Amino acid sequence: MARHPRASAKAIKSIYLMTDLEGCAGVDDWDPRHHEYVNTARYIYERSEMQRLLTGEVNACVEGCLDAGVETVIVNDAHGAGRTILIEELHPRALLVKGKQRPRWWIGLERCDAIFHVGMHAISDTPAGTLCHTMSKGVKDYRINGRAVSEFDLAILIAGELGLPAPFLSGERNACRQARRFVPGIVTVETKEGLSIESAIHRSPIAVRAEIRERSAAAIEKARQGKVKPVRAKSPCTLEIEMREPHYKPEQAAPWKTFVNSRTMRWHAPDIITLLNFAFYNQSPRKAWR
Ligand SMILES: [Zn+2]
Repeated sequence: MARHPRASAKAIKSIYLMTDLEGCAGVDDWDPRHHEYVNTARYIYERSEMQRLLTGEVNACVEGCLDAGVETVIVNDAHGAGRTILIEELHPRALLVKGKQRPRWWIGLERCDAIFHVGMHAISDTPAGTLCHTMSKGVKDYRINGRAVSEFDLAILIAGELGLPAPFLSGERNACRQARRFVPGIVTVETKEGLSIESAIHRSPIAVRAEIRERSAAAIEKARQGKVKPVRAKSPCTLEIEMREPHYKPEQAAPWKTFVNSRTMRWHAPDIITLLNFAFYNQSPRKAWR
């Protein structure tokens, strides 16, 4: 006997929206906030344009979530500066996590039912991946249990550990391809086609926003039908960070932390959240905050 489709529908009432800058339509240069001449008219103009482009894509995603009946959207202003989204122009129904030196990268995630991604770029060293990197330009790879992971893979694994699926991602074409390999069934929207590290064929931000809105709503429906499953890392878990240049010293090794060579350190812990609390926030795996 066929079950009524609603019989297995999952409640998806609140969405955690991770954001980054480099994957937005119209962005093909690095954020100039550390640039020596950032106070010149050119860079002030360019940074504010980048902020508007990201805020526009975020708002489109919030609209799509609300169209699908979501009640709460917590937006994480996760690009390095933590002050990229224009809060006055943000959708009035959204909440915003922003600022530097937060206690955790993923603050508020545990209050939500699924994680969405907007503005994503590809993993470091992706051929033709516009502005591709993993965390910073000095990093060659982040590896979880031996597999290289992108920034959004990491967030998806944290969400997965909490039982949350990742049904939606928008960003540069290579990022979308990588996300589809990592999360079976994920809904993606391509903002641009990468040509090289600092060039792309961009879609119109107007067209991209319309598609983000429509596909976000579709992704919520897919998640409700259980068609996108949480992605979990195997426990216990290891993280290796491999830098491009020598960075680590043998005396930095500790229990749960192994010096591999001058470019690579390996952390290990019972699960990925404990692991990242340890590696990023130096919190002992013995009494980890979750
Ligand atoms: Zn990034």
